[in-house]
Amino acid sequence: MSETASLHALFGGTFDPIHFGHLRPVTTLAQQVGLQQVTLLPNNVPPHRPQPQASAAQRVAMVQLAIAGQPLFSLDQRELQRATPSWTVETLAELRQERGAQQPLAFIIGQDSLLTLHKWHRWQDLLSLCHLLVCKRPGYATQMETPQLQHWLESHLTDDPRVLHQQPAGRIFLADTPLVAISATEIRQRRQRGESCDDLLPAAVSAYIDREGLYSD
Ligand code: ATP
Repeated sequence: MSETASLHALFGGTFDPIHFGHLRPVTTLAQQVGLQQVTLLPNNVPPHRPQPQASAAQRVAMVQLAIAGQPLFSLDQRELQRATPSWTVETLAELRQERGAQQPLAFIIGQDSLLTLHKWHRWQDLLSLCHLLVCKRPGYATQMETPQLQHWLESHLTDDPRVLHQQPAGRIFLADTPLVAISATEIRQRRQRGESCDDLLPAAVSAYIDREGLYSD
């Protein structure tokens, strides 16, 4: 397989802050699927939704600290550099345009996001642009909400990682990743109560949160 055709995975999130619940499952997923590169895509939150507590610059700084020295991960700030929040499907369309029709592309989500995917803008176009790689997340159902959605899921599933490298888009892979019971919400709440979060996120991110006085009020 040539270098340019290798499967490239994107991982979008608010990352307010980035934590081990993002990093550990995705690291295992990368081993299972043979990903050489995972690009983190911090998102711009639309004005009608609750805004992140950390600024875009702070969320970027935390991602940079979390991935420093880890060649698997890189950062793409394109969604934050736009004046308006972008839909995931639009960012993926842009990446598809840049990479060409044959480049295998994947978007990584947690199980909670899979369950609500049908609420995403133009969700049915997602699989024409990329594969979906799903990490387990404790506390969330393994079945979709309706028989129709379950059918949609099952009709796109593959359990063969080679298929993800051979086809440019269109398949869903449910990865056997560790269950990590961490959320950014819990971290923000713990910080507010003055409790330690050292077991939930990388030490450099924790030190940054302390220095910046983030999530304490
Ligand atoms: P919040 O608590 O603020 O809603 P979060 O912890 O869910 O945040 P996000 O930045 O919203 O983090 O998540 C980005 C992506 O990472 C989503 O696809 C989500 O499903 C996934 N994800 C987040 N935490 C976990 C976890 N502990 N295990 C597996 N996937 C996760």
